[in-house]
Amino acid sequence: MRPRDLERVLELCPVAYAPLGTLEFHGWHLPLGFDALKAQAICERAAVKTGGVVLPPYYTGFGGGHGEYAGSIIFDEQAFSAQLRRLCGRLAEMGFRVIVLLTGHYPQEQVAAVKTVAREVEAAHPTVSVLGLAEPEAYPGEFRGDHAAKWETSLGMHLLPGLVDLKGMERHEDPLCGVCGADPRTEASAQLGRETADGILEVLVAQVGEALRGNRPRPPWYYHNLGEQ
Ligand SMILES: [Zn+2]
Repeated sequence: MRPRDLERVLELCPVAYAPLGTLEFHGWHLPLGFDALKAQAICERAAVKTGGVVLPPYYTGFGGGHGEYAGSIIFDEQAFSAQLRRLCGRLAEMGFRVIVLLTGHYPQEQVAAVKTVAREVEAAHPTVSVLGLAEPEAYPGEFRGDHAAKWETSLGMHLLPGLVDLKGMERHEDPLCGVCGADPRTEASAQLGRETADGILEVLVAQVGEALRGNRPRPPWYYHNLGEQ
């Protein structure tokens, strides 16, 4: 986008989506940047429905326990939160009224940091809503999340089919290395990914709509223990 394009979006629909993820080993079958790419794909689909802009994905997440695996570059909380504060602060100054921080990387420490920054930015900019969300929160009764296993792989098969290489797992002595959750070779499917993505999109689009109308969204909220809302 050029500056005039941005001005136009601000006039029409002042919503900004920031997809958050990591560079992190995601089994042999998924790309290292999967969490950010997955969040980006969901944000793009949401933006088609709501309007607004999607920022480039952020690969600077932290936590989750795969930091020493091949290809992982995991940042720390301080760097992550400082970047998010700056990002949201500038978006608020530009005139965005709803900022969506959607994290596709969701160990509790990262989800907590996203929500903390969201609250801080809202306190500093009372006319701005910051929705700090993790993908699995769309399903309060069932944790549709894992690491490179059934759920993430299903989302990949639906959202980014060209980037999922299930057959490639068999070329390795330890095909399930780094997979935390149900075996994606037998449990994952594009259909499950479609249903799950549609559920996340429904919640996301509804929340953005509420926020644009000036209401505090009250979505399903999986991470109850984090004390949000
Ligand atoms: Zn992941």
